[in-house]
Amino acid sequence: MTSDLGQYLSDGELGVDGWTAALEDDRLLGQACPDCEHVTAAPKAACARCGSRDLDPVELPEEGTVYSATRVEVAPEGFAAPYTVALVTVGDARVTARIDADVEIGDDVRFQGATESPEGLTPLFG
Ligand SMILES: [Zn+2]
Repeated sequence: MTSDLGQYLSDGELGVDGWTAALEDDRLLGQACPDCEHVTAAPKAACARCGSRDLDPVELPEEGTVYSATRVEVAPEGFAAPYTVALVTVGDARVTARIDADVEIGDDVRFQGATESPEGLTPLFG
């Protein structure tokens, strides 16, 4: 476990509040399952693959690769369209992110911090 992640944990667990606080600090956190080694890019109560509840917080790499991308032409009220939502592969995890560049599947992108999105605070890559 990376030693300075404790400030984002609550009862030793990474929750949505801690994950969001880390994002505000320009850090992208995820969770690694010690039982099956599955890594997620957003806080979950249990491993999506094996159901283990013994998840370790991890800092994810800032370099990623575009796994899929969707251009949103019609945005929710209060948000300017068009914008691009992508699934970005970071290490062994995939994170839903906003992209501030024209990208295609397989492009290398880099974590830029957080941005407001209709889904709440969201990682931004470019
Ligand atoms: Zn697991």
